[in-house]
Amino acid sequence: MAAARRAGVTDARVLEAVRSVPRESFVPPDLRGQAADDRPLRIGEDQTTSQPSLIATMVAALELDGTERVLEIGTGLGYEAALLGQLAAEVHTIERHRSLADAARRCLADAGCENVTVHVGDGTRGLPEHAPYDAVVIAAAAGRVPAAVTEQLVEGGWVVAPVGSSGTQQVVRYRATGGELVEDRRMVPVRFVPLVEDPR
Ligand code: SAH
Repeated sequence: MAAARRAGVTDARVLEAVRSVPRESFVPPDLRGQAADDRPLRIGEDQTTSQPSLIATMVAALELDGTERVLEIGTGLGYEAALLGQLAAEVHTIERHRSLADAARRCLADAGCENVTVHVGDGTRGLPEHAPYDAVVIAAAAGRVPAAVTEQLVEGGWVVAPVGSSGTQQVVRYRATGGELVEDRRMVPVRFVPLVEDPR
């Protein structure tokens, strides 16, 4: 939580969520001893979970008040989804690796996150079954936010996503306005794993 504060997170609900969600429950068992460090960790399938202060910063930018339906693209082992579950009414999260999605379901169940549903699939198509979403957070990097995500947002909804080339990206916040995404704020430079579009 101290790291999230240092990163500039001031929202009391977000800080409380960071305090109450045990990160060690969302990393591979052999890395539990490192879960308290504000550093990225490997989660299997050649993927990583970001440092928690960055995840908290991205989640805070969604300005959730507890009433929202939220989509996360890129579940990993579910840490960010668990934070979102504390901050929104209903969370859907989609992961393309079945092994990670299965493990995330177990982690979320063990942590008592009942309002988070894990889906397996390609999040570049969004998740039309449960749309529209009040907010979307993307946990993997792409050159642009997929068009499906824009179509599945409510008017005025936020998207927070790392956007840029495969080397480095910026976390950008956009607002859905008149059926388009309007850039609101460039937040921080980052290096995320790529958002992979599966063949149709
Ligand atoms: N949100 C996670 C971070 C996971 S890393 C956390 O809190 O730790 C990003 C994840 O996005 C990886 O697990 C990767 O497999 C997944 N991913 C990449 N492209 C995807 C896509 N098109 N659809 C769904 N998940 C995707």
